[in-house]
Amino acid sequence: MKILSIETSCDDTCLSITEGSFSGKEKKFKILSEKVSSQIEIHRKWGGIYPTLAKREHQKNLPTVLKEVLESSGLLEKSSKIFKKNLKEISDLLKKIKKPEIDIIAVTKGPGLEPCLWVGINFAKTLSKCWDIPIIPVDHIESHILASLISENGKIKKIEFPALSLVVSGGHTQLVLIKNIGEYKIIGETRDDAAGECFDKTARILGLDYPGGPAIAHLAEQWKNKISTTNTQIEEIKLPRPMINQKNYDFSFSGLKTAVLYKFKKTPKSKKTKKYIQAMCFEIQQSIIDVLLKKTIRAAKNYKVKSIILGGGVASNKELREQLKKRMEEKIEGIKYYVPEKKYCTDNAVMTAITALHHLKDTEDIEELKAESNLRIGKH
Ligand code: AMP
Ligand code: ZN
Repeated sequence: MKILSIETSCDDTCLSITEGSFSGKEKKFKILSEKVSSQIEIHRKWGGIYPTLAKREHQKNLPTVLKEVLESSGLLEKSSKIFKKNLKEISDLLKKIKKPEIDIIAVTKGPGLEPCLWVGINFAKTLSKCWDIPIIPVDHIESHILASLISENGKIKKIEFPALSLVVSGGHTQLVLIKNIGEYKIIGETRDDAAGECFDKTARILGLDYPGGPAIAHLAEQWKNKISTTNTQIEEIKLPRPMINQKNYDFSFSGLKTAVLYKFKKTPKSKKTKKYIQAMCFEIQQSIIDVLLKKTIRAAKNYKVKSIILGGGVASNKELREQLKKRMEEKIEGIKYYVPEKKYCTDNAVMTAITALHHLKDTEDIEELKAESNLRIGKH
């Protein structure tokens, strides 16, 4: 079963061709080709994602990225001259090539930025019509959760249920209880900004580049090394841990952003040294991690889960990955921990494909298929 998967929910144009099978007891999954065409340089100027610009870039990128994944998966001949130039329209490509050996098209349906989702969906519909291949619509949050199933040896990882997933991305922060694949319940989520959004917005306040998560993580690491190798005095920067002691599983990060803004504004320019910015980054990151871990561990205990799955762009944060592992060993021994390889934490189409592989019966009529920017996992 060969799957062409398309993911355009935010600012990356992602395509992959994978091969999966569920024969007998073993589930196999092989990546034939994958590509993420990043728009970061374009959005950096604006300090965040500009949806209409992202939509235009997806439209521009998709035919070329499709050509690339088809070529590198070996499903197309490389020689034809048409592939040497940049493709403006998908029709240019479709006129020149034969139907490739693909059985399913998987496409992200939501949640995400509506104009961006539509570009991917319309592209999938065009290919589906032209090649007569069915479409499986995919939930993007489920993809971030199932990204943990991708393994290098071609086998699909097995998860022990019930499981709890902490999904932390640029647009979402959710705790999802999982009875089985396909059976989800959101037990907590952010009431305002997502964790990734908090990294991005606080980074902007500090004058750092977009995306803010990696920039803050980098400076926080420098500060951590400084305090562990020298006697550097920690600047007195203490930030709040919003909702940490509330007995629910919800989050709130906008207060943290406001606290950073006030602190930064109150600090005289002469004191805004590199050391100060590093210490601030360290504290922002730790504040976010403290809240995420406290609620995740409590939920894991209360719901007596057997596994914890971390997912989403913020899951590529080294400290979050390591501190969650350590906290689990200290507080809830025996629970399995799943976290995707870093490149599958941020948006990619391989996770879209592995999700579709678990929903092979859920093909959708192309006339019915539409983008659902506010799609909620467990509610469809
Ligand atoms: P996603 O929405 O899943 O594509 O993830 C993008 C979000 O992840 C952005 O808000 C980034 O700032 C954030 N992010 C990416 N890498 C890191 C990192 N190392 N630490 C913290 N946040 C990160
Ligand atoms: Zn995402």
